[in-house]
Amino acid sequence: MKRLFSALVLFCCPLVAISDGQSKSESGLELSAIDKTAEPCTDFYQFACGGWIKNNPIPSDRSRWGRFDELQDRNNEILHKVLEQAAANPAGDNQKIGDYYGSCMDESAINAQGVKGLEPLFTKIDAMKTANDLAPIVAELHTYQVNALFGFGSEADFKDASLEMAIADQGGMGLPERDYYTRIDEKSAALRKLYVEHVGKMLALAGTPEAQATAGAEKVMAIEIALAKGALDVTSRRDPNKIYHKLTPQELQAMTPQFQWQRYFSGIGAPPIYALNVTEPDFFKALGKLLASTPIDDVKTYLRWQLIHSSAAILPTTFVNENFAFYGTALTGAPELRPRWKRCVQYTDGDLGEALGQAFVKETFGPEAKADTVKMVHEIEASLSKDIDSLSWMTDTTKREAKVKLQAVADKIGYPDKWRDYSALVIKRGDALGNSQRANEFEFHRQLNKIGKPTDKSEWGMTPPTVNAYYNPLQNNINFPAGILQPPFYNVKNDPAVNYGGVGAVVGHELTHGFDDQGRQFDSRGNLKDWWTAEDAKAFTDRAQCFVDQYSSYTAVDDVKLNGKLTLGENAADNGGVRLALMSYLAGTAVKPAMLDGFSPEQRFFLGFAQVWCESRRPEVSRMLAQVDPHSPGRNRVNGVVSNMPEFAKAFSCKADAPMVRQTPCRVW
Ligand SMILES: [Zn+2]
Repeated sequence: MKRLFSALVLFCCPLVAISDGQSKSESGLELSAIDKTAEPCTDFYQFACGGWIKNNPIPSDRSRWGRFDELQDRNNEILHKVLEQAAANPAGDNQKIGDYYGSCMDESAINAQGVKGLEPLFTKIDAMKTANDLAPIVAELHTYQVNALFGFGSEADFKDASLEMAIADQGGMGLPERDYYTRIDEKSAALRKLYVEHVGKMLALAGTPEAQATAGAEKVMAIEIALAKGALDVTSRRDPNKIYHKLTPQELQAMTPQFQWQRYFSGIGAPPIYALNVTEPDFFKALGKLLASTPIDDVKTYLRWQLIHSSAAILPTTFVNENFAFYGTALTGAPELRPRWKRCVQYTDGDLGEALGQAFVKETFGPEAKADTVKMVHEIEASLSKDIDSLSWMTDTTKREAKVKLQAVADKIGYPDKWRDYSALVIKRGDALGNSQRANEFEFHRQLNKIGKPTDKSEWGMTPPTVNAYYNPLQNNINFPAGILQPPFYNVKNDPAVNYGGVGAVVGHELTHGFDDQGRQFDSRGNLKDWWTAEDAKAFTDRAQCFVDQYSSYTAVDDVKLNGKLTLGENAADNGGVRLALMSYLAGTAVKPAMLDGFSPEQRFFLGFAQVWCESRRPEVSRMLAQVDPHSPGRNRVNGVVSNMPEFAKAFSCKADAPMVRQTPCRVW
């Protein structure tokens, strides 16, 4: 539901993710997941995960299914219980989460409301006479986080990350990425046709006469194509220098004379803005031209579409089903909509995550788990320090700087020290759409209020039950929500080899992000500043190219290959992360039984790593993710890494010419 700026936040994992978490083995490995007919040195992923894949078909309401999804489902069961109780007795601390969830579950009340909650905004859109009337309307739509024309919010100034600054970003497109509007292959063209039909159906559901809705959808598409043509593609957006342009509001105004920025700023209630990051000036120039050449009636239709679209999940069933038919089935291949309670749990987490997350933390993440994780993080940081010392390709000057940066990395584990205060947010029973709108408004203003103020590094960009983790280059910190510090990533009862392979590799992964192709461009304070000697930067780039070539050779689906450039940061982080976790495990004092479940310590480590990534994907979602996701699919994340590691070949006694032994292994860290 939220659309926050996260262009630079480096997740460990695709935004979503086990079995019941009960170890069925001595080590904690999932023995039934192993395919004993496969040969580890030929296809390690098949060996580690083949059994799991066979025994866990993709549920009909999913486009992919992996161990992340299993865990997220388990976490959601816990949230579900909390929310059912809160909804039955919405008092005190439970009022907001209980009434939010209870309203979301009340499908008949939502159906009875229809689109009444959107009418006031429809009326304002319809009342526009010329493009001059646009700024206040876009301001109001943005307040509700409607994706109208562009994005606006707050983010740390890349070059002085101690301060928050306003940011205006490309946006306003309903398809996942700019290239969806421009690719010329048959499948892309067919998807665009379905998208236009979808837009038409949504407009019609909200009351536009059918013929007008069909014609209007074409106009919407024309506007979005024009926006896409001005926009940067997802790979280019990984380069921080390409999305940092600090301008004054006057400069932005000169770039987009057709849009009244001062009226927009006062409409959103922003604090005084003296400078802002206009991520992509070319996009805003294209936006200006678009507004100059587009009839106002077409703009009205477009805004109406974006408003309906942004609210679709919380509108009557007909809207929800049509929204799913395109975004769930056509785009990602899921045949069935998820049960309502699962969706409502997700939305409550999205809008009130730090209220709901407190109960989750109480139930799942005790002091022992936290202390254990902190210890592991410190060990892995120590391993990276040793690794930097040992690098043959880096000079002492850059090594010193790298260690300054490493020393400064802050570790955030489990949940925030201070929970977000939602007291200003009004949640009413029976008003699902209103609750969602007010939550969006609350969040938008929370973001705007940061402009001009010092960056708050204690804040979390993920809620506690989330099965994911991230590195924030602008804050130089690593963040591990309690949601991921669970089996199969981590279990206090596991053999340490399995924990190091699971959560240890994730910790190493996030830490490596501070030193990947993108993260390395930021210094110890989070500023975009080059601290590399030219010679070392070149050595890095040469080594990184090895990963680009390696992963570009993998096929995602049909004729679609992985994009080695888009996935470089994640692949570098996977490769570095596993190495650091293995170094820490071997150097540590953990008991290392010679054999458990028939595997040596190193074998258990690699299996623990691989089993986190067991998954299946439908072809539609494979195609989409290859085009937009900086993460490689599970199979490539596993085989891509182990085939670069002589430690793996040794652990499984692979022959020198085995498929899992690359002749020229890639390595940066
Ligand atoms: Zn990552």
